[in-house]
Amino acid sequence: MNKDAFKKYGYQFIDWVADYLDGVEDFPVTSHVAPGEIRRQIPIHPPDREEPLDRVFKDFCEIVLPGMAHWQHPSWFAYFPASNSPPSILAELLTAGLGAQCMVWQTSPAAQELEESVIDWLRQMLGLPEGMSGVIQDTASTATLCALVCARESATGFRSNEQGVTDRLVVYASKEAHSGVEKGVKITGYGRENLRYIPVDASFAMIPEALAQAIAADRQNGLIPACVVATVGTTASAALDPLVPIGRICRENDIWLHVDAAYAGTAAILPEKQWIFNGVEQADSLVFNPHKWMLTNFDCSAYFVRDESALIRAFEIQPEYLKTPVDTSVKNYRDWGIQLGRRFRALKLWFVIRSYGVEGLQRIIREHIRLAKLFESWVAAHAHFEVVAPVDLGLVCFRLNNGQSEDALNDLNKKLLKKINGQTDIFLTHAVLGSTYVLRMAIGSRLTKERHVAKAWQTILRVAFG
Ligand SMILES: *Cc1c(COP(=O)(O)O)cnc(C)c1O
Repeated sequence: MNKDAFKKYGYQFIDWVADYLDGVEDFPVTSHVAPGEIRRQIPIHPPDREEPLDRVFKDFCEIVLPGMAHWQHPSWFAYFPASNSPPSILAELLTAGLGAQCMVWQTSPAAQELEESVIDWLRQMLGLPEGMSGVIQDTASTATLCALVCARESATGFRSNEQGVTDRLVVYASKEAHSGVEKGVKITGYGRENLRYIPVDASFAMIPEALAQAIAADRQNGLIPACVVATVGTTASAALDPLVPIGRICRENDIWLHVDAAYAGTAAILPEKQWIFNGVEQADSLVFNPHKWMLTNFDCSAYFVRDESALIRAFEIQPEYLKTPVDTSVKNYRDWGIQLGRRFRALKLWFVIRSYGVEGLQRIIREHIRLAKLFESWVAAHAHFEVVAPVDLGLVCFRLNNGQSEDALNDLNKKLLKKINGQTDIFLTHAVLGSTYVLRMAIGSRLTKERHVAKAWQTILRVAFG
């Protein structure tokens, strides 16, 4: 592709993206293609000859688009949001244009130093302790994996790094913790048998006394408690594990405390929500995802640590070909996580934070929370619906309850969700809390306004009662 063609298509695609976001509401929020339907339309063999981009773009529109779920749709209430924003998209374009591989300071000093700066901006925005430093990872799952490795090395005096895991190390998380914890213990040498699921209270938050008991029992049996993962904003219901007592237990027992705030962390940029991190000064590490609720394109996950030297020691490698003359005076993020090669993710964060300003971001998050409370009030006021978990952030867990048995209610709500997603232009997902099947209404798309939330409620009522 020559420069003129690049410009022509570049302008055209920017126009397309702008119009897409402007009119995304007119798309069906999810794709209704059948499994295999897209694959069948893609040639089995790659093309031998060059193809004009017009034809590729036409296939993008005709084959790819119908098979996409539209995450930026204002009626996207499923999972958690993955909002992008115009400044973030433009920064991604610049990042792609630079095509830099930012593994060490020398391979792009600005990428490393900007990352250090925006990570500290985020630390301040979230009210995290001074002295915590951080790094941008791809996802929270990766960050939690890193935390499990740090905890393992911290518990074994970095012996596992050298000899493999020979001790029986134990990890604790609430029943509501993200499945990334389970995946992490599978692949970091702890083993699933050594993951303890701690019971939760009526608000689905970890019960600290049960944690303390589990730790004591393991100690008595000669096992080594190594890591507690506390979740601030669980995936199912945005429940908030109490960090103050959990942190105290971790300090008393010398256990690594990792805080998973993948979704909820963004809310802490609001002064009135910073209490969700009460006790965070006891944490050894913390992750939150700007790629969920903070208008930054997937992927972008912020991983903070209290003692960066423990992280670096656990991950550092020194092959000759990666040595540079400045290694002792700069941060080389290759040693702060799993991957060597690193994308320049700091740029989009920088663009987002500067374009909106902290106040602009606060306004958007605050409005989402207001809409969630509003939706909660409608559900609570209805005779045959109920709110099933506390609503502190942008997520409402609710269900239809007409007084049938629990089993029948689960079945009823399952069918309701299927109808909503199959027959209407809104998209919700579900969770099971305890043994209760609930619908999740996650409000956090940048484009979601009150009218979309109101329409969603009307739609749910129409589907439920005909
Ligand atoms: C979304 C979520 C994750 C996983 O996030 P990824 O970045 O997709 O790995 C982890 N923990 C919690 C609490 C989440 O809500």
